[in-house]
Amino acid sequence: MKLEINNKSLLFDLDGTLLDQKFDNQFWNHVIPTELSLRSKKPIDLVNQEIQQAYYNVRGTLNWYCIDYWSKKFRLNIFELTQKHDAKICVHEGATDLLESLSLLPVHLYLVTNAHPDILKVKFEKTKIDKYFNEIFSSHSFGYPKESIHYWRELLKFLPQNKEDCILIDDNEHVIETARNFGIGQCITVTRPDTSQTPNKNDDPLSLMSVSEMLHWI
Ligand SMILES: [Mg+2]
Repeated sequence: MKLEINNKSLLFDLDGTLLDQKFDNQFWNHVIPTELSLRSKKPIDLVNQEIQQAYYNVRGTLNWYCIDYWSKKFRLNIFELTQKHDAKICVHEGATDLLESLSLLPVHLYLVTNAHPDILKVKFEKTKIDKYFNEIFSSHSFGYPKESIHYWRELLKFLPQNKEDCILIDDNEHVIETARNFGIGQCITVTRPDTSQTPNKNDDPLSLMSVSEMLHWI
């Protein structure tokens, strides 16, 4: 499957799409529980259960992505912990080559992310990936996560093109569904956000295992 991308607005998700989600999965499912278990002296299994429940309770909302929320809830400095573990933050193989090639084409490149602005600082410092984008739209500035149609309504106010000429590339199926319902022209699902795990199942002809496959469209 090939898609015409010239003169389009390409809306790239960050975590799992351009960056390997392995870092975030490790961080939230291992680093945080270990820290909390050490501090509370509770067994790690119990802490894990409590944490998974806490994550589940706010799944799909802006709080799920908000380090202020989690720092307060866990009484941990999530920003400092992220900095401490930043060596594990990495770009998906081929993603930088793709952005490099796209930046030579007549396309608009936007980063559309649920990541918190403080986490973005750490990730940009580490990967320098922000330099490829015309603009960066964190859902925290709009007050709605990308899972909400309000995010897309707000975003469109800042884009030079109409929604039909936008292409979203994202690994989150709920986000893809919302963007599709809103009327974003094309939605491409990335099926292997975390390279340490097996790819997600997806029958959509526009799904890609990795963004690097988009290099064939150029
Ligand atoms: Mg993602």
